[in-house]
Amino acid sequence: MLRRFDVHKVTSVAEALDLRQRFGADAAIYAGGTELLLAMKMGVARWPNLIDVKPIASLADISATRDTLRIGATATHWDIERNTEVRRVLPALAQLEANVANVRVRAAGTLAGNLAFGEPHADPPSLLVALGARVLLEGKVGSRSLPVAEFITGMYETALAADEIILAIEIPLPARDVRVAYVKFQILERPSVGVAAVATVRDGRFVGSPGVVVGAVDEMPRRVSTSQFAGADAHDVGTREAIAEAAGAAVEPTADLAGDVEYKRHLVGVFAQRALASLVATAA
Ligand SMILES: Cc1cc2nc3c(=O)[nH]c(=O)nc-3n(C[C@H](O)[C@H](O)[C@H](O)COP(=O)(O)OP(=O)(O)OC[C@H]3O[C@@H](n4cnc5c(N)ncnc54)[C@H](O)[C@@H]3O)c2cc1C
Repeated sequence: MLRRFDVHKVTSVAEALDLRQRFGADAAIYAGGTELLLAMKMGVARWPNLIDVKPIASLADISATRDTLRIGATATHWDIERNTEVRRVLPALAQLEANVANVRVRAAGTLAGNLAFGEPHADPPSLLVALGARVLLEGKVGSRSLPVAEFITGMYETALAADEIILAIEIPLPARDVRVAYVKFQILERPSVGVAAVATVRDGRFVGSPGVVVGAVDEMPRRVSTSQFAGADAHDVGTREAIAEAAGAAVEPTADLAGDVEYKRHLVGVFAQRALASLVATAA
């Protein structure tokens, strides 16, 4: 049962920060509420005050320049999946977003809320880490920008300070010949394994080393060490198997209803290979 709380609707970032400071630990930022209200209903979290940032018009923007995609903190999964700019400049993200949860959650839940909650069974973090995305934060003493890889610090843990809010997520756009893939395995409400791969393949070989990040299976996304595969034959089954093995070794899977540690490690290998295969299939 939900206990009594007050919702404070704010129309500017300054107002949100004022309330953040005034209420301290007695308030949480409230966006779609898909995690927050669930946690409050279950009684695992209690905030007497919610600071509703949805009315802040500037936080809803999604825009792209030549080299960066900027997604405002109140943009929902549904907004992102349908946005024509996102579909044009980063179709892999639009596709990932279209497969998050169900339409009700996507229509209310935001990308910023997904990152801020730090729930490990999530899709966006691994792709965002693979792409080198950053979280833009604003606090009472100023703004800062953190790589997603440093923003998520553990299971339900982030580097968000008590006086800060997320303004936006900035994603560097891959060069034209860079291929991006995200594949996942899911039998429950949320993904059990997600693998993002980012690489350029030229004349059948990786240019530099492929970027591979595994998410949803561990406490936080894990980048796979792939430096030994720089310039390797991308079509070679042996190369893909070796990368899959490295992916399995990079994670410490959490056993849960979706499977035990060894099973999940096996899934990581299978899905790492699928991510690489899909990336190679689309390469020039
Ligand atoms: C049934 C179900 C299925 C799901 N399936 C998937 C799935 O398949 N894949 C997946 O990736 N995710 C899944 N999710 C998670 C979903 O993506 C998140 O619930 C959603 O993105 C959270 O966003 P929100 O706006 O609702 O956050 P809220 O619930 O409003 O907030 C979540 C947390 O983020 C904080 N927060 C929100 N916005 C800000 C901000 N601007 N600045 C600072 N802190 C902020 C809040 O204080 C809170 O701690 C699922 C969730 C549910 C309920």
